[in-house]
Amino acid sequence: MSDRAVLHVKGRVLVGPDDVRDELWVVDGRISYDRPVGARDIRTVRGWALPGLVDAHCHVGLGPHGPVPEDVAEKQALTDREAGTLLIRDAGSPSDTRWIDDREDLPKIIRAGRHIARTRRYIRGYAWEIEPEDLVAYVAQEARRGDGWVKLVGDWIDRETGDLSACWPREAVEAAITEAHRLGARVTAHCFSEDSLQDLVESGIDCIEHATGLTEDLIPLFASRGVAIVPTLVNIATFPKLADGGESKYPTWSAHMRRLHARRYDTVRNAYDAGIPVYVGTDAGGSLPHGLVAAEVAELVTAGIPPVDALGATTWAARRWLGRPGLEEGAAADLVVCETDPRADVRVLAAPRRVVLDGRVVD
Ligand SMILES: [Zn+2]
Repeated sequence: MSDRAVLHVKGRVLVGPDDVRDELWVVDGRISYDRPVGARDIRTVRGWALPGLVDAHCHVGLGPHGPVPEDVAEKQALTDREAGTLLIRDAGSPSDTRWIDDREDLPKIIRAGRHIARTRRYIRGYAWEIEPEDLVAYVAQEARRGDGWVKLVGDWIDRETGDLSACWPREAVEAAITEAHRLGARVTAHCFSEDSLQDLVESGIDCIEHATGLTEDLIPLFASRGVAIVPTLVNIATFPKLADGGESKYPTWSAHMRRLHARRYDTVRNAYDAGIPVYVGTDAGGSLPHGLVAAEVAELVTAGIPPVDALGATTWAARRWLGRPGLEEGAAADLVVCETDPRADVRVLAAPRRVVLDGRVVD
């Protein structure tokens, strides 16, 4: 990291989809659109500037078998930073990563506490595994531990039926979501399946992760309630491999996973077309590597979302949704500078020319 010299970003500054400027300045780590008076040590960066990218489904401090040591969590956060991810919504972590808040050189994190799952209905070592009568208490606990979000596991394989199924009775999620909202936290849930969605949405949930089971009949409900989805298509791409692995023991589940995978792009495009907010999330940290934010943006474009809105899903729109500033005057200077216009080809995001975090150029 270099010192906080005055930075001059020149070229095109994409403040918003309809707000494009020619330059911005970074003074004392803050964005300014006025040329600073008397500044001497000025470093110029040329290119196409965007707000620091948002990964709205990422796990820091989590590895394939559960919590990881701090040095591993640090590497995860650094890998995200190199990719231009400067704001993370952590979608559940068993580690205490509060120490990252004191590190100006690491991405900013909005936490959802630790995953809350039904007993033996999630990946071992990740979640609090509880029964419905304890859901309200655990949601209250994680709402207090997190940064305004709580994460539920809404469905998972039921080994008795050999297929995905909803994890919670309707009354339990209603009470839990009401309690989270009373405490000022929003709620999201991991959902692969179709049958978990209606109860969660009618109970007032704010977001659904993956949402592969979002069928045509449920889309109007999501749209009318304004429930966001974070599809994590780079994760959904692994479904065929998971299905192969489970084929002999759980053939029904395998076939279900393959169907969800096969229609994944239609699911996302239909949601987008209906006006459902769609955000970029990679699901890094469990089995997937960190730093895949550009690949997920490209996947949303493949699904049929126009490039400018796929970019918004990791920049302007995502930041507004999470209550964090973008490239507004006076905001912390968290930005990425691309070689060429990312609206013309989002793949340019995969190799940012410069990443600037809190006004410092990441070298
Ligand atoms: Zn996840």
